[in-house]
Amino acid sequence: MKKISVPTAASKGYAIGPVYPVIRRPFVVNRRQIRPEEVETEIGRYQAAVETAAAQLEKFAKDSEIFEAHIQLVRDVALIEGVTEKIKEGNNAEAAVEDTADEFIVIFGSMDDEYMRARSDDLKDVKKRLLYALAGVEENPFAGLDAPSVIVAEELTPSDTADMDFGKVLGFLTEEGSVTSHVSIIAKGKGIPCLIGVKDICAQTEKGMTVVMDAGTGDIYLDPTESVIEEYTQKKQQFEEQERIMEEESRNPSVTKDGHGFMLCANVGNIEDIKDALESQMEGIGLFRSEFVYMMKKDGFPTEEEQFEIYKEAALLAGEKELTIRTLDIGGDKGLDYFEFPKEENPFLGCRAIRLCLDMPDMFKTQLKALLRASIYGNIRIMYPMLISVEELEQANGLLAECKAELKEQGISFREDIEVGMMIETPSSVVMADDFAQRVDFFSIGTNDLTQYLLAVDRGNQNISSLYDSFHPAVLRAVKHVIDCAHAHGIKAGMCGEFAGNVQASELLLGMGLDEFSMSAGSIKDVKYRLRNINYEEACGLAGQAVGKATLKEIKELLEK
Ligand code: PEP
Ligand code: MG
Repeated sequence: MKKISVPTAASKGYAIGPVYPVIRRPFVVNRRQIRPEEVETEIGRYQAAVETAAAQLEKFAKDSEIFEAHIQLVRDVALIEGVTEKIKEGNNAEAAVEDTADEFIVIFGSMDDEYMRARSDDLKDVKKRLLYALAGVEENPFAGLDAPSVIVAEELTPSDTADMDFGKVLGFLTEEGSVTSHVSIIAKGKGIPCLIGVKDICAQTEKGMTVVMDAGTGDIYLDPTESVIEEYTQKKQQFEEQERIMEEESRNPSVTKDGHGFMLCANVGNIEDIKDALESQMEGIGLFRSEFVYMMKKDGFPTEEEQFEIYKEAALLAGEKELTIRTLDIGGDKGLDYFEFPKEENPFLGCRAIRLCLDMPDMFKTQLKALLRASIYGNIRIMYPMLISVEELEQANGLLAECKAELKEQGISFREDIEVGMMIETPSSVVMADDFAQRVDFFSIGTNDLTQYLLAVDRGNQNISSLYDSFHPAVLRAVKHVIDCAHAHGIKAGMCGEFAGNVQASELLLGMGLDEFSMSAGSIKDVKYRLRNINYEEACGLAGQAVGKATLKEIKELLEK
């Protein structure tokens, strides 16, 4: 048995089970010339790869129609003939597949017909699938996850989590990441224990090895003894019992001891999250990260119709509760399989989020129209991410107005009075909060990004993670300023960064006047428990003192009193 301890718990809880390592192999296409006597074997290898790829695609096609087109392409006669011909000319199967597919990709890609151009993207995916099948490599690192396991990885990207079967995930242990990285946010939302910054965990574990993790203390046991397993099985049961009690408590109204009301909402990334959140006594959806709708797609931007169906279902599920849908916030650490982002030195300071949307107005309008059309089914609010200037806001609103006019012309109904708000997550939006507050319907403070930009500390960089702290006096003062500006112009100030779900911060934020707290669904019961047991008057006093402090140390001491 070996014990490791780490300081950073991203999501508390206990896990006991086998390791499932996430292995990513660098993929290099093995190209070579073949001898005439190898032709038959190579054709056989190619045919087997076609069958493997088709079988994988048939499995996916049950959940999504997109893969039907891929199946047709895998079995396309012209493609098969082209590859076979190239093998006969002396190329191995890999080279023949790559060259033939590339020729077709160029031809499809240059056609005027939009449908045919889209086939070019399909073919890129099919080519990759065939090459992986020829190499005998699984493209999806989670394909072998067939029993409940603790996922061990160097790093997990948002698109990894988009592909994951959470029913089989007992816990996460990763070497990279931070409390605001997406794996942490997702773990918290699903109530899955997660520890990040676990140095060399990949090298110290292997598939099937038993691990015990206590994400509350940060202790991990590799290959634990029977008595450790027994001790932690008991702790896990007690923890689950405590969680159950808090959950029952959270059915009570959201008011402090002295009768001051507050609003607790959930952050979600898809329809499943909304269903989970509805069980957590949330009073609304404060943040729907629509980028997950884009990440779920593998072969191109989601169409207006595809998005409309998702937003409509979300609106119907949320009913009268507010449903705040953030427009596409992609870039930074969030990529798309089908879109090549410009190569940038500093992607977090680059062409991401609203900047990319304003650069690609047709793509942005597709989303805005889908949101407008879905607005008649519930209480949708549109929220722009990453704004730095009033000009950007005006540009986005200009496109929204165009979408409204076009829908009207087509006789398609939408809610004319749909609320439009913005995230406050850049330092410039804090400084300009007074001007923004006169032009939007609500604010939502994104402390995950605001903390990184205000303190100039990369939110995902392990080396400087001790500097990343939303209790920093500059962040607290910024938050207070934003809330005051919102109230001065009669709009509500919410928060949807992870700080809103921090139990220790909640009293302070309530005292500063925050109207709406939006967090991972798993944190709602904890924050509610805390806020139901404090006095608003005292919270205001505490907030007043905290924003007057010059150091982080003094703020922490004040909160620990
Ligand atoms: C934030 O920055 O606080 C936020 C909620 O957005 P994201 O974490 O998706 O960047
Ligand atoms: Mg953000």
